[in-house]
Amino acid sequence: GEAEAAGGDGDRAMLRHLARKLRASGPVTVAEYMREALTNPGQGYYTRRGGVGESGDFITSPEISQVFGELIGIWYISEWMAMGKPNTFQLVELGPGRGTLTEDILRVFKQLASVLSKCDISVHLVEVSPKLSEIQAVMLTGGKVQPNPEDESAYMKGISKTGIPIFWYRDIQDVPPGYSFYLAHEFFDALPIHKFQRTEKGWREVLVDIDPEVPDQLRFVLSPSRTPASQNFIQPEETRDHVEVCPEAGVIVQRLASRIEKDGGAALVADYGHDGTKTDTFRGFRNHKLHDVLSAPGTADLTADVDFSYLRKMAQGKTATLGPIKQREFLKNMGIDLRLQVLLQNSGDTATREQLLHSYDMLMNPENMGDCFHFFALLPRHRLVHPDKKDKPESKSPLPPVAGFNELLLK
Ligand code: SAH
Repeated sequence: GEAEAAGGDGDRAMLRHLARKLRASGPVTVAEYMREALTNPGQGYYTRRGGVGESGDFITSPEISQVFGELIGIWYISEWMAMGKPNTFQLVELGPGRGTLTEDILRVFKQLASVLSKCDISVHLVEVSPKLSEIQAVMLTGGKVQPNPEDESAYMKGISKTGIPIFWYRDIQDVPPGYSFYLAHEFFDALPIHKFQRTEKGWREVLVDIDPEVPDQLRFVLSPSRTPASQNFIQPEETRDHVEVCPEAGVIVQRLASRIEKDGGAALVADYGHDGTKTDTFRGFRNHKLHDVLSAPGTADLTADVDFSYLRKMAQGKTATLGPIKQREFLKNMGIDLRLQVLLQNSGDTATREQLLHSYDMLMNPENMGDCFHFFALLPRHRLVHPDKKDKPESKSPLPPVAGFNELLLK
C-alpha cells in the first residue's frame, strides 16, 4: 500500500504509532497530527530526514542562489546602520535548515567587515532537529562544535569559519535577551495549524482519525461539536468557510515583538502566504512532488501557507510591521538586478552564466517563487515614526527608509 511505497520499516513506524494512539484515544487535531509527523523526537520528518535541498523533498530560495542570502545580509546591515550602529547584536535564525542562509549572511558580514568594524556579533540558531543541527554545524563551523556547553542555555556551540560564535537552541525562549536581528525563512509554514470548517450547525474543527474500514489508513473527520480551538481562534466577523490558524506562530511572533520592543532590533519573516484570505492550503511534499498529507506521515514535509494578517495581529502593536511584500519586489528593491549583472560579468563560462540566469528566474518569476513568497518585518515603532511626530513634525529629520519595502505600510 501507500506505506509500503514509502520505503523501509522506519517509514511505517510513525503510522503505526499514530494508528495506535487514534484507536486508543480517538481523533486528534490537525495541529497535533502535524506536530507528530514533523517533529516527533524519534520519528518526525525533520528529526529523521531533514528534507531541505536538491536531494531532499523541497528546495528553498537560499539553496537556489547565494544572492538571496547576500541581499538579506545587506538588509540587516542597512537596518543596523539606520538604528545608529549599536556596538553589539545577535543574529537569531529560526529553523535554519542546512545553514546555507546564515552562511551567505556571514560571508556578507565578512566582506563588509570595515563597515561593521568593532561591532560584536554572535549567531543564535533555533533548531529542533538534531539531524539538521549537525548539517548546520558542518556547514558553518566545519563540524568543530561543543555539545551541551556548561553555563549556557544552548545545547551546542561553535565558532563560524569567519570567527563568529554560534549557539544552538530548541526554543526561542532559550536565546539570551539582547539587541537582536531575527530571521525566519520558511519556518512559520512548518508550524502546526488547526483547520476549521463552517457547517450548518456552526464551526467545526477538522480532525484526523483512523479509517475503520481500511487498516492503518488515516482520514479527515469533523468534530461533532465546537472544540476549544474553534471557540478561541475563529473571529465572529469571519467570512470564509474554511480557516487555518497557527497558534504557535502567533506565540512566537508575540515573543519576537516583545523582545524587539524591550531590547531593540528587527525581525524579517519570509514565507509563502496570504493576508487572511486563503482557505485550504495544507499540503505535503516528497521528492519535490505534492504528497497526500495523510499518507505515510513522517516521510513527507507538511506545510500550510502563512497568514500574515494573523502575524500582524499577534504583534499587538508592540512593534510596527511592514509587508507582506512579494519576494520579487523585495529582492528588486534590495538590488538583485545589479548583483546579477556583476556576477554575470565576473563569470567566464556559459554554464555558470546559465545557472545564474536560471536561479534568478526561480527567485523572481511570478510563475516560480516571485509572487507567492512574501517578506514581512517587525520593527521598533520609533524606526518608522518619530515618537513625538504629532507635536512638531517639521522639526524632525526624516527617518531613513527601510530597505526592501518601498511602500511603507505602517499598521
Ligand atoms: N530556513 C531553511 C529551512 C526551512 S525548513 C531554508 O529556507 O532553507 C524548516 C526548518 O525549521 C527546519 O530547519 C526544521 O527543522 C525547523 N523547525 C521545524 N519546526 C520547528 C520548531 N518547532 N522549532 C524549531 N525549528 C523547527
